[in-house]
Amino acid sequence: MISLSEARTFVLDRVDSLPTVGIPLADSAGLVLGADVVATESVPPFANTAMDGFALMAADTVGAPVTLRVVGTIAAGDCDYPTVERGEAARIMTGAPLPPGADAIVKVERTTFHEVGSTVEIEIEVEPGNHVRAAGEDVRPGDLVFEKGTLLRAGHLGVLAGIGHTTVDTYRRPRVGVMSTGDELVDGGGPLRRGQIRDSNRLTLLALVRDSGFEGVDLGLVPDAEAAITSAFLEGAERCDAIISSGGVSMGAFDFVKVVLDRIADMRWMQIAIRPAKPFAFGISGTTPFFGLPGNPVSSMVSFELLARPALRKMAGHAEWFRPMLEATTEIPLGHGPDHRTHFLRMEGGPDSTGWWTVRSAGGQGSHQMSAMARATALAVVPDGASIPAGGRCEIIPLI
Ligand code: AMP
Ligand code: MG
Repeated sequence: MISLSEARTFVLDRVDSLPTVGIPLADSAGLVLGADVVATESVPPFANTAMDGFALMAADTVGAPVTLRVVGTIAAGDCDYPTVERGEAARIMTGAPLPPGADAIVKVERTTFHEVGSTVEIEIEVEPGNHVRAAGEDVRPGDLVFEKGTLLRAGHLGVLAGIGHTTVDTYRRPRVGVMSTGDELVDGGGPLRRGQIRDSNRLTLLALVRDSGFEGVDLGLVPDAEAAITSAFLEGAERCDAIISSGGVSMGAFDFVKVVLDRIADMRWMQIAIRPAKPFAFGISGTTPFFGLPGNPVSSMVSFELLARPALRKMAGHAEWFRPMLEATTEIPLGHGPDHRTHFLRMEGGPDSTGWWTVRSAGGQGSHQMSAMARATALAVVPDGASIPAGGRCEIIPLI
């Protein structure tokens, strides 16, 4: 057996980030920026008012209350507006440009406008700059707005739209093909013959792929037959940036996945010192990485989390590949007799108002018992020979 970190290093050393491409900004949420973004525009582009009110000279408010002559009204979007002279004010709406001459805003609540005679009474003294949003207060030309490697989220799209970007350079979203292998597997909801089970891994893995921000491609259910496995992998490699299969990587006599992959790819077959998900295979065919996950449903999910997801994140351009680990309180004792393996237990629970997690078992811990994996909000990481009492501290990998 090899350690999890050796397996991870082996995989991560052999995958690279995908090329960067220019894509419409509208489609970029969840992707990773492929180049630094330097602003060529100011935000805001011009000085404007943060409040509905009156634009005036701050000096005219000394000794308030004062009465000023109203010389016009400026709405957001107006480009034609009066100059404000001493003793004058302009009505102004939020977002409208500050008119020449004015250096401050008094919000409407502290004024009384007299339509007849067109005057306004200003109740308060204000300083220059009051409620004025200066040009470039958020972004200036030449600013490094976001660095290469930034994960684009809603706010980033807003900033990029605000500086006039309609496209953005990002790492390509990995297209990840997912297939299930095994003669016992059936698709859909029909009756089961003796010995058959339903394929549950494919939908789960496709959902994990998509949840992780990648594009999932369903490569179907492949029987344990050399020809079928060969064409499934080769066709998948044409269409996808990476392929994930489940099943057929352990010691079974009919595990043709091994035979086929050894022929078409440079593979390493691993036994990793973890439970679940001990068997794992990784290789490259051409330029396409193959992840061979074990067939047991819980194992395939854990294997995806620990090995495939970090590598796919690297391909997607992320700087951080692993989920963060946290310390938590366990309500149940944790530990196992020495088997030279680190156990990843399926736990329920979550953080309290301070962010501190408390966890308990999510149910049956067999690698075929998906219900507990489905309920799990975290994996407890229990090293070989650990003995943690109920109420003690353990390490967890939150999954939510
Ligand atoms: P294998 O890794 O092919 O030896 O399979 C290990 C166990 O996982 C066996 O009990 C298989 O029936 C089961 N298994 C394999 N693939 C799937 C799948 N796609 N969905 C559900 N169970 C599976
Ligand atoms: Mg099998």
